[in-house]
Amino acid sequence: MRRLLALFILLPALGCSLPALAWNAAGHRLVAVIAWQQLSASSRQLVSAALAAHPDYRRWREKAGGQSEAAIFAEAATWADSIRNDPRYYDDNSDAPTPLLAGRYDSRRHRRWHYVDFDAAGRPVKGELDRRIERLEQIIGTTREPTEITYALPWLLHLVGDLHQPLHTGNAADDGGLNQMIENPFKRGKSAVSLHTYWDDLPGPSSLRGRRLQRAAARLMAEHRPPAQGNVDLWREESRRLRQQAYPPGNRAGPPVIDQKFAQNTRTIAERRLAEAGYRLGRLIETRLHQRVSRETGDQESGISSVTAASLRKNY
Ligand SMILES: [Zn+2]
Repeated sequence: MRRLLALFILLPALGCSLPALAWNAAGHRLVAVIAWQQLSASSRQLVSAALAAHPDYRRWREKAGGQSEAAIFAEAATWADSIRNDPRYYDDNSDAPTPLLAGRYDSRRHRRWHYVDFDAAGRPVKGELDRRIERLEQIIGTTREPTEITYALPWLLHLVGDLHQPLHTGNAADDGGLNQMIENPFKRGKSAVSLHTYWDDLPGPSSLRGRRLQRAAARLMAEHRPPAQGNVDLWREESRRLRQQAYPPGNRAGPPVIDQKFAQNTRTIAERRLAEAGYRLGRLIETRLHQRVSRETGDQESGISSVTAASLRKNY
């Protein structure tokens, strides 16, 4: 234990750091609630049926505090972060594999999926966030295996949110702001935090759920019109450009102290990015599900039935 603790303390000194989380749970729920509003009734049915077959569905339902499908959808968006300390899952390159959960799901935590970091020349050098989203949306649009949709969906809900956090398209030199400490005088308690953590917590308290969550999402939607849909490349480049505003000006030795102007500007950016991620995620899911239903209804010769909520339930 002491050795583990020593390693923990040494990691930053060695230039390593613990992987980033991206928006906290409140941020991911807000993105999901906005996305849910973009879905048609049939897509909501499909998505809910797919999530209901996930091994962690019961946990999401408990955390959501009831049967509301929108609230369960929002909890599913936090799953990719919640498995980071869950002993049923393992780290790809450091742990021994854990047994597969019922339903032959992948048990790896895939920490590298949450970010893509760039070197000074603008080349992607770490992480695979952007390419992974493309793969997941492809799975949802094309797979003939319902269990793959069940696996891909929580990842997609989460990663589209991550890609809209400017420090998740980070500078590899400081690990996306993880190695950049700042002083935040507006925070009660510990005021020294990493810049990355500061950004992750901008959406509000992690416990945001229920009516307060719905109200916060409704406000974001009222204040932000749907953005151009674009694609993964656009979302990544937008985040990279925003990185210029993500760092507080530093003109003294030691960690920069954030001021009112910086706090206000970063909050404004964060709220806009959450809204954009929500609108885009919803439309992405809607498009991909529509694509598979149209293709499969025209694919009668191969005996593939159209994917409806009823057929999904039957498959599970
Ligand atoms: Zn993440």
